Amino acid sequence: MQKLFLASESPRRREILKKAGVSFQSYPSKISEFPQETLTLDEQILDIARRKARAALASLKTKVEGGFWILAADTEVIIEGKLAGKPLDAEDAANKLRYLSNRTHEVKTAVVLVSFPELRELSHLETSQVTFRSLSEDEILKYVMSGDPMDKAGGYGIQGEGAKFVREVRGSFDNVVGLPMEIVLKMFEEMEKIEGLQKDEGKQKNELELVQKEIVLKCQACGRDPKTVRIVAVSKLQPIEKINRLYGHGQRIFAENYVQEAIAKKLELKSLDIEWHLIGHLQKKKLNSILGQFDLIHSVDSLDLARNLAKKCGEKNITQKVLIEVNISQEATKDGWVASELREQWADLLKLSGLKITGLMTMPPSTENPEEARVYFRNLRMLRDELRTPAHPLEELSMGTSQDYLVAIEEGATLVRLGQRIFGERLQK
Ligand SMILES: *Cc1c(COP(=O)(O)O)cnc(C)c1O
Repeated sequence: MQKLFLASESPRRREILKKAGVSFQSYPSKISEFPQETLTLDEQILDIARRKARAALASLKTKVEGGFWILAADTEVIIEGKLAGKPLDAEDAANKLRYLSNRTHEVKTAVVLVSFPELRELSHLETSQVTFRSLSEDEILKYVMSGDPMDKAGGYGIQGEGAKFVREVRGSFDNVVGLPMEIVLKMFEEMEKIEGLQKDEGKQKNELELVQKEIVLKCQACGRDPKTVRIVAVSKLQPIEKINRLYGHGQRIFAENYVQEAIAKKLELKSLDIEWHLIGHLQKKKLNSILGQFDLIHSVDSLDLARNLAKKCGEKNITQKVLIEVNISQEATKDGWVASELREQWADLLKLSGLKITGLMTMPPSTENPEEARVYFRNLRMLRDELRTPAHPLEELSMGTSQDYLVAIEEGATLVRLGQRIFGERLQK
């Protein structure tokens, strides 16, 4: 959590915050607590809390380096539809207690949380009902003489001597003391969430813009038209909000690995004009659920899969655009054709009506050093050049991820599959 200042001099509030394990500094602000009577009752209380927060802000922002939050609160006892305020004198205190005796009244606390430098403000008004038992004139005078009522809204403090007068509290007890802690903790959480998202959003936008610029520069450097390179935003294990935000920044192609996750996200985002790609290994039993769902499938990785998919597409009378996944590095654990196999089966693949093969895809071994991937990207391009014909130009080369997309572009990539580089870290599967 951010550095927190409590804009209140109430020792009760300090205690509640401390008890909740929140670290903070006290920074009481001096404002007139006179209510703005043109406002509704609730608004009057919120207004006082806001003024406390803003006064503290005005002073703190010149003194503190970096960001911080300010928590301010105002607690009021309501008597006859008005803010009772703190007693003016002993007589007033006694009158307030006489009024509260044998009645139920409301206690309201307005809480305001402000963030700097973002200047976001969250506020909440909490109401509790307090029922007093019947007080004798003796008790009232004795309590007034003790001095306890004088700095307290409504002329009593529920955590001290005043506790004896209370028969029942409905709602938050902390609220009556001066700070409804349950709500305050929720407000901290909400503020953290908002600020976290904002930071993420700023970062996401910057990252996407940066990558776009890098790609343009790289294309210029190697004599390619930047329009021939498209970013495929790999959104697997990333939340919907992040997809929405990248979409807001102009990204249109998104790719998923896992069929179930992909279908769920597609449904949720169906109002957006997204071009969806599938890049994960496809199981035969999932074929029915993906038919007609994806603009491009990058991961057709075996003749068997290609045949099954083609057959289903034929039955549905659709043509599915696909890329052929090549295990160009010939790793034993990897899906996809090794080059020699692909050459042998290429004619069979081309015969499959229902599939439109628009290019090749590969996923080289992951390395720290992007240069090590270059040979694989180059080999994929050379294989493509060998297999292409005017009837099957194989214009797409899907290669390069966050680690090595710039090398992939130098070697001819037309689709770079970027996950964490533009989304930030993803959840673990
Ligand atoms: C996850 C994944 C990516 C994206 O990887 P990043 O390192 O996050 O860019 C690209 N291609 C495939 C096939 C993937 O599974």
